[in-house]
Amino acid sequence: MSEQHEGGTHDVVDPSTGVAFTTVEMAGTAAVDAAVERAAAAFPAWRDVAPADRARLLRRVAAAVDADLDHLADLEVREAGHPTANARWEAGNLRDVLEYSAAAVERHLGDQIPVAGGIDVTFHEPLGVVGVITPWNFPMPIAGWSVGPALAAGNTVVLKPAELTPLTSLRFAELAREAGLPEGVLQVLPGRGDVAGQRLVEHPAVRKLVFTGSTAVGRGVMAGAARHVKRVTLELGGKSANIVFADSDLERAAATAPDGVFDNAGQDCCARSRILVQRSVHDRFLELLEPAVKGVRVADPRSPDAQMGPLISAAQRERVAGFLTEESLGASAEVAFTGTAPEGAGFWFRPTVVLAPDPRVRVATEEVFGPVVTVTPFDDEADAVRIANDSRYGLSGSIWTRDLGRALRVSRAVEAGNLSVNSHSSVRYGTPFGGVKESGLGRELGPHALDAFTDVKNVFISTT
Ligand code: NDP
Repeated sequence: MSEQHEGGTHDVVDPSTGVAFTTVEMAGTAAVDAAVERAAAAFPAWRDVAPADRARLLRRVAAAVDADLDHLADLEVREAGHPTANARWEAGNLRDVLEYSAAAVERHLGDQIPVAGGIDVTFHEPLGVVGVITPWNFPMPIAGWSVGPALAAGNTVVLKPAELTPLTSLRFAELAREAGLPEGVLQVLPGRGDVAGQRLVEHPAVRKLVFTGSTAVGRGVMAGAARHVKRVTLELGGKSANIVFADSDLERAAATAPDGVFDNAGQDCCARSRILVQRSVHDRFLELLEPAVKGVRVADPRSPDAQMGPLISAAQRERVAGFLTEESLGASAEVAFTGTAPEGAGFWFRPTVVLAPDPRVRVATEEVFGPVVTVTPFDDEADAVRIANDSRYGLSGSIWTRDLGRALRVSRAVEAGNLSVNSHSSVRYGTPFGGVKESGLGRELGPHALDAFTDVKNVFISTT
């Protein structure tokens, strides 16, 4: 069997119709090995490109992404079912991260440390070949968050996109080559996780892994990386709390709560999928939330006013539905109301609000990764923090209050990597992003993004 065909093929399906529209070849282990070899061979020359030239090349790649933005967005709409406006934002985010990373190349400063008998300086040395494994929920941005800073720091990259969504990453690699990125510096290899992904984890020449996906697989990636003491960055699951205090702007908190959880049909690791509401305003909040949820426009992602598209696959729809059976909800939790969704072909699911007075029920503790949110009352600040932190995850969260002191106290007390006060913002390319507890390890983005793709080397020069 040839290297190209040993991983079989995969039919890419449009989630809004359920119909396959193209077929992609999957890399097997031999193809991964060959790509890693090419990446390792390309590394010394890429590392030695003068910083200003490396920055210029990355800016060219960003410009190529920008020129292809509509096309990239169309691919994302087709393979992931994202509304067009969201997909355009995602392609723009890829461009922006590349530009931001390009600007960091010439500012990745080392230290000069006072010591006796000489001078001491540090260098940020690139690691070599970086393996990047991305999920299907935000294929373009998540690829960019690793590829931009990894290349900027002088590494070469082999990227394995999720089987379900390989097209935008393949196009990105094509654009990068056309923009002048040398051969072998960025390679994209669609393939199955347990074949191509696993091989990246095991390959001794891959010096760092960036994995985004489920906590279960992330745990295996970390264990596999341990064998060669590979560096890892893990962006895993979440079950984030949206804490609404009685002193907040309740109208705004309720009106925006759907954005905080139903964006990308809830298939978002930062989804605020647990709304915790102070008991004194619980019923009023629900009254305000109902029209907001019913107003979410779930529609064909190509329609200009669509706010939410379908789920990614039939399997994901089944998984999400599994959280709402009588057996799964148990005696205390119940569906309060739902929004609407198209009928018929496509993996549609209605935005769904579940009352969960007991915060320990399954739907309120496990990552649903669909448009399902629970609402749980709390008594006071300490109770809110206790419930928010009673989770194995710690990725993001929101705090709604008009009391600045409380906003700061609760921001410090909630165990999560990314919090927003009176908003649901999580990811900006200029600020660090990542989780605590089982939501992950390490940070992406922000002013220190390149540090995650380098090791610090210390050099002492004697002056005696
Ligand atoms: P996975 O964790 O299985 O997939 C994420 C990526 O890892 C994909 O590229 C996948 O490949 C790859 N992968 C799978 N197995 C291995 C392996 N053994 N070694 C190396 N790479 C591997 O997530 P799923 O797509 O199965 O989604 C399941 C659930 O995970 C979701 O319902 C959600 O709860 C959670 N999830 C969370 C995400 C987040 O951002 N926090 C993102 C995606 C999922 P491939 O799929 O091509 O086989």
